Amino acid sequence: MRLILLGSPGAGKGTQAKLITERFSIPQISTGDILRAAIQKGSTLGKEVKEIVESGRLVPDEIVTQLVQERIKEPDCRSGFLLDGYPRTIAQAEALEQFSAIDYVIDIDVSDREIIERLSGRRIHPQSGRIYHIKHQPPHEAGKDDVTGEPLIQRKDDTEETVRKRLAVYHEQTSPLRNYYQQNKAVRYIKLDGTKPVDELKKTIHELLTQHKEVI
Ligand code: AMP
Repeated sequence: MRLILLGSPGAGKGTQAKLITERFSIPQISTGDILRAAIQKGSTLGKEVKEIVESGRLVPDEIVTQLVQERIKEPDCRSGFLLDGYPRTIAQAEALEQFSAIDYVIDIDVSDREIIERLSGRRIHPQSGRIYHIKHQPPHEAGKDDVTGEPLIQRKDDTEETVRKRLAVYHEQTSPLRNYYQQNKAVRYIKLDGTKPVDELKKTIHELLTQHKEVI
């Protein structure tokens, strides 16, 4: 099962990715997570991309493509994987085609207005990736992770100004991928309403993927 999760930043890709990977035992490959980890570590890659990521622009296609190409060679990707945040440009989608086939593209659709609301209230527990929202999914104790009690953070690129910039980048460079995959007969393109509750979306995705798995 080789999947791509498509959708604007904050559409809920990360949340659904975690649920899908648990249910189908495939790894989640999030280029954003890989880049943030590199930045945190201060590696050569991290230093190269820090300013770009924090300003909400896109890292060069070749860098992310190489990361993904290397990652999916790992043994845990043998029975499939879920790409979260890649591809993000037509050039990346074309590069991906050169080294892997894709079975499903799940496109999670949410309006810009809602995205701005969601992202500027988003808080993260960086160690586990657990995601909260100050209004819609607050932690038991403000600013602290429910499980460990450790402090939650706001991503540097989740401020309203940067979110607006990320949305502009998304509309310009990533949303053309919707058409691209809709027209590609080799993949199954599924568009979903991302304003539905997390559990409902999860159920729909799981049903679609299970049904199709049985058909295969
Ligand atoms: P995300 O966590 O997916 O929202 O990614 C955070 C940031 O990482 C993006 O705003 C980009 O700066 C960078 N990034 C992640 N994935 C890609 C990609 N496929 N192509 C270019 N830049 C990316």
